[in-house]
Amino acid sequence: MSYKPTSFVCDSTSQLVEGCTLSVRMQKTGLWKRAEILSIKTEGGKRQYYVHFLDFNKRLDDWVGDDDLNLSSVRFPRNRHRQRMELSKESRKKLPDEDHTVSDEITKSQQSQLKQKSVHEIKNVQWIELGRHRIKPWYFSPYPQVMCAQPCIYLCEWCLKYVLSATCLGRHLMKCNLRHPPGEEIYRKNTISFFEIDGRRSRTYAQNLCLLSKLFLDEKTLYNDMDPFLFYIMTVFDSRGFHIVGYFSKEKMSGENNLACVLTLPPYQRLGYGRLLIEFSYALSKCEGKTGSPEKPLSDLGLLSYRSFWAQAILDVLINQKYNDSENKITISINDISEKTAISPEDVASTLKHLNIIMYYKSRYIVCVKGDMVKNHLKTKTKPQFRIDADCLRWVPKEWNGTLGKATRH
Ligand code: ZN
Repeated sequence: MSYKPTSFVCDSTSQLVEGCTLSVRMQKTGLWKRAEILSIKTEGGKRQYYVHFLDFNKRLDDWVGDDDLNLSSVRFPRNRHRQRMELSKESRKKLPDEDHTVSDEITKSQQSQLKQKSVHEIKNVQWIELGRHRIKPWYFSPYPQVMCAQPCIYLCEWCLKYVLSATCLGRHLMKCNLRHPPGEEIYRKNTISFFEIDGRRSRTYAQNLCLLSKLFLDEKTLYNDMDPFLFYIMTVFDSRGFHIVGYFSKEKMSGENNLACVLTLPPYQRLGYGRLLIEFSYALSKCEGKTGSPEKPLSDLGLLSYRSFWAQAILDVLINQKYNDSENKITISINDISEKTAISPEDVASTLKHLNIIMYYKSRYIVCVKGDMVKNHLKTKTKPQFRIDADCLRWVPKEWNGTLGKATRH
């Protein structure tokens, strides 16, 4: 049974149902883009539509009103009920005795469709307030229903506890003695610090951190068990305390994965902090004498940050290598680069390919870095204070054994 999508001119928005696709105005840009209606609600006598823009990241999903919909070309969802009836009829003809079973299967497949649909969760938190920042969430996060019913969730920026109102937060702050994340400070340079949090020792903090970060990470899976994870929180210091900027998590027994999840909070994005978090994860790998790689798949923004970090770290090695060598040619293997940067050989190879500087010549692979690329690289090198200084790291790798959460120091 084939299905041909057909578009209709729709007379009124009252005909629209969930699953319809049509042209919708994006709130931010004012541009019209094709979108699917995921949910419809009526508020104050007005219909509102929760839409997902096709080919765009879910963070742009939003509630829109009647005026934002273009009814000239609406595609309706196929009628699942009718399809089910037809399928049942067909199967009855062929397999009279097994009709029941077939219907059951159809019901199951419908259930799984519904399940898939519910994966596309509707954003449930309107605003959060964290320290000085009021932030609009990007994705769904399973905060308690009673919290989500409020226009804003208030978070203590030190322990990340969430409360219903500014008054409640004020009361909490009178009692909360923390002025930094509840772990050991393992790095400090200028105003930047890193704190190491053990998910087993600081379970509540780790859970609150995961709830907060889910608001900005679509792919994140929420685990109830925090014990197998370490969290590295990056902070900026001022007279009031150590303010959270971002973090990454790492599994204690992760093998080669040196990072599970990474987030820079929106007010600090595009300032070089994401790169710093990634650089720090490799600084820890170097300390452990290992090469590392992030857990895949990476988010769209995560991949961009990594690509830029890898390119910079690898070009640094190649360029310095060249200047130290008296000959015009140098020989360096992917493993050499990997050892120097702690970037896994696979990620080194994929970066060289992505930079388009590796080629096959006379039965060998050669890397050719052109002069303008060197110039650009030296020019765009981030400011020195935005690099990790390994001398400021006070950290001894731990050996995690079979019983998770128990560590022995070297
Ligand atoms: Zn607190």
